[in-house]
Amino acid sequence: MNTKPHTRKVYWNAPTMTWWERAYLFEILRGLAITGGVFLANMWKWVTFRKGALTTYYPEETRADYAAGNRGKHVLTQRPDGTPQCIACNMCATVCPAQVIEIDAVFDPDDPAHPKRPSRFEIDYSRCIFCGLCVEACPEDAIRMVKEVPELTSLDRRNMWIKMDELLTWNPQSDVAKPYPAKGAAASRKGAQ
Ligand code: SF4
Ligand code: SF4
Repeated sequence: MNTKPHTRKVYWNAPTMTWWERAYLFEILRGLAITGGVFLANMWKWVTFRKGALTTYYPEETRADYAAGNRGKHVLTQRPDGTPQCIACNMCATVCPAQVIEIDAVFDPDDPAHPKRPSRFEIDYSRCIFCGLCVEACPEDAIRMVKEVPELTSLDRRNMWIKMDELLTWNPQSDVAKPYPAKGAAASRKGAQ
C-alpha cells in the first residue's frame, strides 16, 4: 500500500466564498429571485403575444448566429472540372469515431493524376457527432465543415444519410491552394516525353 504523503493541488482560480455565500440560504433565495424574475418577464411577453425567452423553435426556426468556426454541415470540395477532390483513401472513414462515413471507390484508368475517386460517399447524420475529425484527417482538403447546420429532423433515421450529390453541390467549394492538372493532362504529358 502506498502511504507516501501528498499535497493536494491548489488551482490558481479556486473559488473563495464570502460568509454570505457560505450561509447558503441567502444565495438560494437570490437564485430563486433571478429565475422567478426571468420566468415572469418571459411569461408577460408570452401572454402579450411577443417572443419571450431566447428560445429557437427548431425546426420551424433556425438560428442565424452560429460562430464562423461552427462545425456544421459537411462539404466535399471540387476540382475545377466539378469532380470530387476526394481520392477515396478512406482516412476520414477510418478516423470517424462514430463510424458513419461510407465510401465506395472506383478506379479511373483515364485519369492518371488521380486514378481513384469515390463513386459513393455518404454520411449518416443520425449518428454523426460533428467532431470534425474527418476534416482533420483528410490529406486532400477534400472534406470541410461549414457553419450552416444540416436539416436534421426526420421521422425515419434511415433518411438521414447525406449523399455525395448534396455534399458536392449544396455549397460548392474548391481548393484554390491545390491546382490539380486537368483530366488527361498528365496522360498527354507522359505521351509527349
Ligand atoms: S464529424 Fe466526426 S462523427 Fe461526423 S463524420 Fe466527421 S469524423 Fe465522423
Ligand atoms: S474525404 Fe479526404 S480522407 Fe476522406 S476518403 Fe476523401 S480524400 Fe480520403
